[in-house]
Amino acid sequence: MLDKLRIILPENILFFNEPLKKHSTFRIGGNADVLVAPQNLLQIQLLFAYIKENSIPYTVIGNGSNLLFSDDGFRGIVVKIGSEFSGIESTLTDNGMILNVKAGTLLSRLAAFACENSLTGLEFASGIPGSVGGAILMNAGAYDGEISQVLVESTYFDINNMSVGTKSYEMHDFSYRHSSYEDDGLIILSGRFSLKNGNKDDIILKMKDLNSRRISKQPLEFPSAGSTFKRPAGLYAGKLIEDAGLKGFSIGGAQVSEKHCGFVINKGGATCSDVINVIKYVKSAVFDKFGVELETEVKIIEE
Ligand SMILES: Cc1cc2nc3c(=O)[nH]c(=O)nc-3n(C[C@H](O)[C@H](O)[C@H](O)COP(=O)(O)OP(=O)(O)OC[C@H]3O[C@@H](n4cnc5c(N)ncnc54)[C@H](O)[C@@H]3O)c2cc1C
Repeated sequence: MLDKLRIILPENILFFNEPLKKHSTFRIGGNADVLVAPQNLLQIQLLFAYIKENSIPYTVIGNGSNLLFSDDGFRGIVVKIGSEFSGIESTLTDNGMILNVKAGTLLSRLAAFACENSLTGLEFASGIPGSVGGAILMNAGAYDGEISQVLVESTYFDINNMSVGTKSYEMHDFSYRHSSYEDDGLIILSGRFSLKNGNKDDIILKMKDLNSRRISKQPLEFPSAGSTFKRPAGLYAGKLIEDAGLKGFSIGGAQVSEKHCGFVINKGGATCSDVINVIKYVKSAVFDKFGVELETEVKIIEE
């Protein structure tokens, strides 16, 4: 049945039996029956009409930097809203710019665009390896900045009625690493950002400072999906894990990073099961020792 996709969509956006590890910063995951990387709205509409008509299981991903794919891959269609669906349009305002950004655009590219145009507000985002869509859904943030501070609205595709809609700022229901997109299953098409004029040298300095803090504190030399756990209110997951004596704890190829205990890393050849087993062990040890329930930030995509 999936073969029929070749009739409605161009061959160059279809990837059959595609290794998902290529689409995850964890470098883990079996094969997807098909991965589709749409380049425009028409292709998204055609694809979802087909998915709906044939009741095919699907999952939507961005840059795969907050995901853990199953070792058995994915039975159905992985829809990648990635670099093929990217672009930035800008409009001048009295004190800055409004940027309309397609969901597949990398946050780092958006932050670089802001910097080139002396716009402040996205310095925090330059080191986050996600797409704009993934960042809106996760309300991605770092060092006191987060997407909710600069996003004014977003557009989405709704598979239920096959229509495009707009969410106002309030409709996103933003909180720490959460937006309403986590619950409603809408497919994010674009974000509209409002940025103010700033001093280019200050912007560059801030980005450099935040990125050098990342390099010194995070295990960027190993594949991972960033912070494995959400920050518990008033506490730090990494500190709790370290205090529970789990620095360097490993199962198979998955390890609690020795550099930053909040990261589970792929030391080499880790499977999804290895990572899940480390996560389970860490959660139970931290709960036993401190009575704190760690919540996973990384999203697990089942087969
Ligand atoms: C080294 C490293 C450092 C990191 N540092 C940070 C950090 O400082 N702060 C931070 O917040 N995060 C950080 N992350 C995690 C990650 O980069 C963010 O969560 C990012 O926002 C995820 O974006 P993505 O495009 O990779 O989404 P994915 O991982 O592909 O997907 C994440 C979720 O978003 C959904 N999704 C993605 N795109 C769409 C779309 N267009 N429409 C609907 N749903 C969509 C997916 O279904 C999934 O549920 C880090 C990750 C790594 C590997």
